[in-house]
Amino acid sequence: MNDKTLTLAEKTVSVYHLCDSCLGRLFRQIEKGPTNKQKGTLIRNNLKQSKKTHAKDCWLCEGLTEETDHFVDLISDALKEYEFDTFLIGSKIDEDIVEREKELWDFISSEDFEPIKMEINREVGKILEEKLGKTVDFEKPDITVIVDTAFDVVNPQIRPLFIYGRYKKFERGIPQTKWPCRICRGKGCRSCNYTGKRYETSVEELISKKALKRTKGNDESFHGCGREDIDALMLGSGRPFVLEIKNPKKRTIDLAILTSEINSYTKDRVEISNLRFSDRKEIARIKNAEFQKTYYIVIEGEKPIKKEKLKEVAQLLLGKTIEQLTPTRVAHRRANKIRERKIYNCKLESVEGSIARLTIETQSGTYIKELVSGDSGRTTPNISEMLGIPCKVKELDVIEIKGE
Ligand SMILES: [Zn+2]
Ligand SMILES: [Zn+2]
Repeated sequence: MNDKTLTLAEKTVSVYHLCDSCLGRLFRQIEKGPTNKQKGTLIRNNLKQSKKTHAKDCWLCEGLTEETDHFVDLISDALKEYEFDTFLIGSKIDEDIVEREKELWDFISSEDFEPIKMEINREVGKILEEKLGKTVDFEKPDITVIVDTAFDVVNPQIRPLFIYGRYKKFERGIPQTKWPCRICRGKGCRSCNYTGKRYETSVEELISKKALKRTKGNDESFHGCGREDIDALMLGSGRPFVLEIKNPKKRTIDLAILTSEINSYTKDRVEISNLRFSDRKEIARIKNAEFQKTYYIVIEGEKPIKKEKLKEVAQLLLGKTIEQLTPTRVAHRRANKIRERKIYNCKLESVEGSIARLTIETQSGTYIKELVSGDSGRTTPNISEMLGIPCKVKELDVIEIKGE
């Protein structure tokens, strides 16, 4: 400890009554290792005016530096229902303390201080690590707790739990995600039978119900890798999704058990597989990835379809790039522009009168209904035009999503 430090400390305590922690925090460089309080005591013992100031009489913190145990208790209590391995403490310090701290820094005009906020975060974190047997993590903590010292409350922020999986859908008429009722917008009205929903259920609700129960989360978001039409089945190996569970109280759940729970609940409607824990990054990956899709479609012509002619059309479409202007049915919510999409495969399965069945493999984002109908010339080329008979899709199922 040099003379310069002692002179500055002497000058400071003659003007401001500071507790040992607040004094020690002004001299970060001295004596690495001990706490600010020990550092402050050490400095004070070398001063002429060595009379101690108790924390509650401290001009700066008014006792805040002695409240760490109290905050530790508040936090332990707030977190007792949550399962976690890692955590991080943040704090929001009384504004008047922050103001006084700035005044003090101006007075000593040095850059060597540590803000009180950092001391609180570190000291509370240190005691909690010991007490709870958990680890402080600055990168990706399971729980972040903000200590608000002015209001004497602690606010835990729980990292969501992400679960990746694939789903199949065996029943038509189920949308992928929840749809609020158009009339009441979710509040519940006569037209939606006071459910607030436009459809009785959704893939999202069917899958998340058991997952929410297991993890004791309070809400969820469902992120699918694209979506099938409400009236389309989703077959093959299923569509990738990430289920985001908000505020989970349990994080270590057995995904094999969850899988069978969900599957027995969603029986004959939806089936899931490949569950594993995931993270937020994967949502972007499955949302942006280009996955080739294979569809099985049943089309209906206005007149009987000639098998040889349709076979020829299927041959011509193979490997072709089509142009699709945003379909009329989605034009209200999507930019009106031309999209080029590639047809990788097109195979005729059967023809009976005016009904035909085809398997088509296309680039991600192809509008299949419009490829068949032509959508008044907005999709070119299209099956109706090539066949010379107006056709429409009667049934459409996704039978494979490639690229995972
Ligand atoms: Zn103090
Ligand atoms: Zn309603």
